[in-house]
Amino acid sequence: MGPGEEDVVGRLTSLKQYNQQGNRAPHKPLLLLMAIGELLGTGSSELAFSEVEDRLGRLIKEYVPTSSSVRQTAAYPFWRLQNDQIWVLDREVSSDSPRQLEGATGRLTSSIERVLLDNPETLQTVVASTLAQQFSPTLHDDILAAVGLDSLEYASGTKRTAGGAKRSAEWRRRILQDWQEACAFCGFDASLGGAPVGIEAAHVRWVNLDGPNHLDNGLALCSLHHKLFDRGVLGLSTEHEVHVSRHYKASSARGQAVYDLVGVRLNPRPGTALPAPKHIEWHCQQVFHGPAVA
Ligand SMILES: [Zn+2]
Repeated sequence: MGPGEEDVVGRLTSLKQYNQQGNRAPHKPLLLLMAIGELLGTGSSELAFSEVEDRLGRLIKEYVPTSSSVRQTAAYPFWRLQNDQIWVLDREVSSDSPRQLEGATGRLTSSIERVLLDNPETLQTVVASTLAQQFSPTLHDDILAAVGLDSLEYASGTKRTAGGAKRSAEWRRRILQDWQEACAFCGFDASLGGAPVGIEAAHVRWVNLDGPNHLDNGLALCSLHHKLFDRGVLGLSTEHEVHVSRHYKASSARGQAVYDLVGVRLNPRPGTALPAPKHIEWHCQQVFHGPAVA
């Protein structure tokens, strides 16, 4: 990687973020990924505010925790990404109000576009690092699809040492064993040829955001409930009762079955570590789409 490319990676992966008290604020990274998706698809990262206002606004609603004190609008990153010297608007706009941005277009600077288009590896590194910095690994495919980058084969940006991979495999094994290879929320247990199937070890505080591989930072969850937990549909109280987001909607009986989990109390066999309050509080603040269904 040449010096110019390293500089681009550095600038794109260290966006100034509203990050008081360690709050997640992935507004700018979502816009960046969307611009890279546009660049790969059309050869230009140019996005008209009117075209992305809805699309980006929806992504922000989906992936930014409702506890975030940053406004949940597309206008916020569309205007503020200029401060990071990687994004330019086609006109002077004096604030991040949607009305002011009407008719404006934005794009990555031409030098950044050139580096990304000429160096597929750099582009992949930027995408992988942005995802790793912001989102649980279980969400990466969904986000790539939403920004038009699902065709991109990216190498994981989280560089793990051999020791780290071994520790994390051991953690998974212990979590599944302690929770008796059954979903802590619904009890789903299944095996195929003697091995659990559709049951996963889930971090409460995401491992890529300082969540430790400790037994009090994990649960066994079925694949569906793991996804809903990482997307903030499901949460936990510090008394270990399951919460369901009031923003969750489903019309079929199977979809509505999620409401059956409201108030279910985790009840593992004796000796199993329950998730620690500090990790639950992090999930509640940074992931769960509150408020919860009463
Ligand atoms: Zn389940």
